[in-house]
Parts: sequence; structure tokens; C-alpha cells
Amino acid sequence: MDDATHATLPAHLDVDALRKHLDGRWRHVREDVREKAGSTVLPDPDAGSIEDYRAKITEALRELGATGTPAIGFSKEHGGGGDVGGSAVAFEMLGYSDLSLMVKAGVQWGLFGGAVQALGTQRHHEQYLPRIMSGELLGCFAMTESGRGSDVQSLGTTLTYDAETQQIVVHTPTHDARKDYIGGAARDATHAVVFGQLITGAPGEQAQGRGVHAVLVRLRDDDGNPLPGITISDCGPKAGLNGVDNGRIVFDHVAVPREALLDRYGQVAEDGAYSTLIASETRRFFTMLGALVRGRISVAGSAGSAAKKALAIAIRHGDKRTQFTRPGSNDEMIVLDYLAHQRRLLPSLAKTYALHFAQGELVATMHDVQSAAEVDDARQRELESRAAGIKAVATWHATDTIQTCREACGGAGYMAENQLPQLKADSDVFTTFEGDNTVLLQLVAKGLLTEYRDHFGDLDTLGTVRFVADQFVGTVIERTAARGLLSRLARVGAGKNGAVLDRAWQVNLFEDRERHVVDAAARRLRRAAGASPNRAFDLFNAVQPHLLEAARVHVERVVLEAFIAGIDTCEDDASRRLLERLCDLYVLSEIEQHRGWFLEHGRLTPTQSKAVTNAVDELCAQLRPFAVRLVDAFGIPPEWLTAPIARR
Ligand SMILES: Cc1cc2nc3c(=O)[nH]c(=O)nc-3n(C[C@H](O)[C@H](O)[C@H](O)COP(=O)(O)OP(=O)(O)OC[C@H]3O[C@@H](n4cnc5c(N)ncnc54)[C@H](O)[C@@H]3O)c2cc1C
Repeated sequence: MDDATHATLPAHLDVDALRKHLDGRWRHVREDVREKAGSTVLPDPDAGSIEDYRAKITEALRELGATGTPAIGFSKEHGGGGDVGGSAVAFEMLGYSDLSLMVKAGVQWGLFGGAVQALGTQRHHEQYLPRIMSGELLGCFAMTESGRGSDVQSLGTTLTYDAETQQIVVHTPTHDARKDYIGGAARDATHAVVFGQLITGAPGEQAQGRGVHAVLVRLRDDDGNPLPGITISDCGPKAGLNGVDNGRIVFDHVAVPREALLDRYGQVAEDGAYSTLIASETRRFFTMLGALVRGRISVAGSAGSAAKKALAIAIRHGDKRTQFTRPGSNDEMIVLDYLAHQRRLLPSLAKTYALHFAQGELVATMHDVQSAAEVDDARQRELESRAAGIKAVATWHATDTIQTCREACGGAGYMAENQLPQLKADSDVFTTFEGDNTVLLQLVAKGLLTEYRDHFGDLDTLGTVRFVADQFVGTVIERTAARGLLSRLARVGAGKNGAVLDRAWQVNLFEDRERHVVDAAARRLRRAAGASPNRAFDLFNAVQPHLLEAARVHVERVVLEAFIAGIDTCEDDASRRLLERLCDLYVLSEIEQHRGWFLEHGRLTPTQSKAVTNAVDELCAQLRPFAVRLVDAFGIPPEWLTAPIARR
């Protein structure tokens, strides 16, 4: 190892100092959740029926509402805290509790309440937000349909305005248009934000489709019975998250007042005339979805918490568990002292740290963009792309990490009391909801290829192909918080090229890979220039896996830069030195995992490739003594870390 460029590891780590650094800008929110954690008793999902479990989660949800924490993300004028970033951090912290509770809260305050706030106007805010914030009025977010999940723009539900009655008629025209998987619908929600195609016209004008809009619909009466014209059924048992009551909803010509339209982006006058400030239907649609980006960011944060909790369990267990005696002695080996065990857990821990800083940056960007007086379209589009990418990478990482941790705990990891089976079952679907990961990465790739142009939202698949085919497009290395820092690094690293622990070399390798993969994808797409729509689509389809890889390597670069920026602001010397090593482990594990690409493309020599593997081994051994303290620094509320194998 090149110790000249790397300070030695500290003899001692002050866990509190590291935790404070990790807590970051919204430390007060994290501390508040920790303080209140004791009052949220986690229900045992296996103790009774699914109905019992749901009832307990709903009870916990109402208690959570009473604490006032969920209100922090809502506007101050309606009694909220006006703290967008704080609310995302609170959801992230809730990811340490029962994930059914986190999802139920996410539906109530993130999706349902968030849609009323972001898509509605003054009258909706005044009428509904105070009761939504307190949890008195429970709602759901009805977007997905049985036939259309990822392709939300093609929803089949119709919202037809009738000027005579001044009502909007909500209707499910086909089986495919049935609302499906809707959290909160089966049991608790009295209201729903329902997405569908708005159809309206001014007098003398043919009524026409205006694209996807949302209306607020009352689903149930005071006794909990569905209102006339509304049929609700239960999705039944799921692989996990059984404390959430997912359901299906069918509307049979259900009339709601004109005012029920959440009309921030498109309005219907009494006579049926439609007006909007965003003329393009597709652009309007993406603007509406963009306003809901907070949900996606919260899921990414909760996935991070789930991964941290699994690692805390597996690393604490691995630090005590012994198997086999060391030859020549009577001492049993602690399993975490086996290099193979370290290699399973510590690179995951390093990536979890990396994603922690990336998530922190994402939340801060969202807070600043959404709290700004003026809308900055370019920053908003970058935010949406970043949120899509981090959500995909973080949820896949959580799924992989939890499985690894389960195996790392042997049979004990399979026992319900040790929390890993529930974590695994509950977090699995994070890769699918709030946007399927594969589809999200396509969005990221589209942003890279079109340089987040103004008409980003206007480009459908073919539009993207045409755009890329017709223009010269280079890689976008978008702004990140670490830009200034990186140019400084490049100077410091000069002359040290080739040393695998040289941070400038590592950053250049990630940047270079991103540029190469995106440019190559753009070159392949340019072959579609002048082709027929059919041929252009076939070309796009053939490039699709390449585009997904482009998005993935882009996200890895953004995550690395966030990690570097996170280290730079760390004031505690011992913590900073450990973070440096974790960052090395994150980068080098990623390079090792994808070394085929680096070797094939002449970015790594065989000698460097071997040096990477040796460095990963060595970093694992060096970080091993700090492993338990590194998971302690997450500050997981002990009331929510109940696994007996995680006890000290
Ligand atoms: C537990 C749970 C809770 C949910 N809660 C809600 C809720 O409260 N409200 C709500 O509105 N929705 C909810 N959903 C729905 C969820 O958002 C959708 O399941 C999700 O958007 C994916 O849609 P889909 O299931 O139709 O999958 P599909 O879109 O049919 O995807 C199936 C597969 O096809 C692939 N695929 C799709 N399009 C492409 C493409 N263009 N290129 C390549 N591959 C593609 C995907 O990657 C995926 O692997 C929930 C779902 C679940 C499971």
C-alpha cells in the first residue's frame, strides 16, 4: 500500500464524533426521532393475523401523527414545519423501525399528503392539509393500474368533466384500468388522490384528453364502507410489508365536484374550458411527476437504513461468533476475523457509507431547490435524474446487502427474532415501487444523452433517439458538490498516477469510464439518423442494456464524489482517516467487481488489477477492528434494533 498518500489509521475512534458527522445538516431531526423511538413499540408481524398486524401499524401511524414529526415537511402556513429536507430525513430514520410503518407513513404523508400539497392549490391545502398532517384523515395515492405500472402516462382511468353538473366523473373503463397495489386502500383510507386522463372542452369545443391529472376522491363513508360506485378489494397477503393494506379500486362513474381537481398545473373553468401554463402535455406530465420526487428520495433513504440495520446485526454477530479453532492453539476463530467474511461485509459497509453521503447531498439539493423562491428548471431536472439514479442503486444495494447479511449470520440469520428475514421480505419491493429501477435508470440515461435540455420532458423514446441521432451530444459531467474539491485533488494527485490508492487516479477512472460508456451509447444511437420509426426503435432497443450501464456508472461516479465531499467536511481527525479508507474500499471493490470492463478497455493493466485485489484484502483487514464502531456510528435507535444476535 502507498502509505505516503494515506495517513495511518487512528488508534481510537470516537463513535459519537463520527455519528455527529454522519447525522449532518438534519442532525436535530435524527436526534428527535431517536428520542421518540421508545414510544413506538414495534409490532411482531408473526404474532397474530395479517389483520392484527395491520391494526397495530395503523395504531402506530396515528401515534406518529400525534408526535408532530410528519408535519415538518408541510408548508408553514398550514401548520407544518416548512422543512422539506427534514421530512425526508425523518422518513429515512423511520426505515430503522418496522418497514410496514415506514411505508404506511410514506403513503399517508409522502405520497397522499405530498400530492395534495404539490399538485393542489390553496383551497385543497386549507381544507385537507391540517387533518392529513395529524393523521385524522387517512388517504392513499392511486396511480398504478393493473395494466399500467411503469407507463403512467398511458393510464386508462378517465376523469371526464361535465359542465352541466360541474362535476368530474371518475371512471374505470376496462379491467386494465383498475387501480392496483394501492397502499392504504384495502382498509384505512377514506380519501384517494386518483390519477387519470382528464377530458374536458370549452363550450363549442370538442371535449378532448388533456393528459394525466389527479383528483381528490372520497372513498369511504364515516363507517368505513365504500361510497356508491366504488368497489374496493384487498390485494391479500404479500411477500412482505403485510402491515400495509394494499388494495384495488374500481370506479363506476363516480362524480366529484370540479373543485376536487388538484389544479396547480392545469385548471378547468366552470364552462369546461381548460387552461394551463405548460402547453406541452408531456412536459406538464413530467412537471407533475417531478413535483412528487420527495417520495422517491425517501424510499432511497429508507433503503439505506434497512441496509445499515442489516449490517449492524451481521457485523455485531460476526464480531462475537466463533467457528473452528486456530491451528496450534485452543482459541476459536471469530468469524469476522476470516478474510472471506470481511470481504462479504466490509465492501457492503463501505458502499453503504458512500450512499449515505450521496443521499445526504440529494436531500440537501431537494431542500434547496424546493425551498427556493424561483423555480430553477435545470436544477429541478438534475434533481429528478439524481433521485432516480440514487433510488435505483440504493435499493438494489439494500437488497444485495440484506441477503449477504442473512447468510453471514448462518442459521441465526434465518430466525425471525433476528429481524433479517423481515428486513429482507419488506425491503425487496423497494426496487419496484416509487419507480421500477430499470425504468428509472433509463430516465437517467435519457438525461445524460440529452444534456437535460429544456425539452427533456418532451422526449419520448423515439424522440430521444431522434434527438441523439440528429445532434452532436457529449457526455454530461453534471455539477456535484465536490467539483471544486476534485480539481484540487487532481493537482495533489499529480505524479502519482497508477497507485491504486491515489484518489485523483480513482476519480479519473470513474469519470473516464462514464464518459466512454455514455459517448459509445450516443454513437450507437446516432445510427438511427434518418431511419424509419420502426428501425429507429429497434436500434434503441438494441442499445438499451448499454444505456442502463451508462446510467449505472454515472451514478457510481456521483456517489464517489459525494463520498469525497463528505470526507472533506469531516472535522474529527480519526473519523476522517477512517472514512478515507472506507472510500478506498468502496472504489476499489467497484473496480474489482467490474475489472473485466477496465481490462478490456485498457483502463487497467493486469498488474494494477492485481494491485486492486490486494488492496481490497488489505483494506478489509485494516478496517476489521473498527467494524463494530462503524455500524454503531449509524446511531440506530436501540429500541428498533431488537435482534438478540445484535446485542452487545
Ligand atoms: C407493495 C406495493 C405497494 C405499492 N404501492 C403503490 C401505491 O400506493 N400507489 C401506486 O400508485 N402504486 C403502488 N404500487 C405500484 C408500483 O408503483 C408498481 O408496481 C411499479 O411502478 C411497477 O409497475 P408494474 O408492477 O406494472 O410493473 P411493470 O411496469 O409491468 O414492469 C414489469 C417489468 O418490466 C420491466 N419494464 C417495464 N418497462 C420497461 C421498459 N420500457 N424497458 C425495459 N424494461 C421494462 C420492468 O423493469 C419490470 O421488471 C405498489 C406496488 C407494490 C408491489
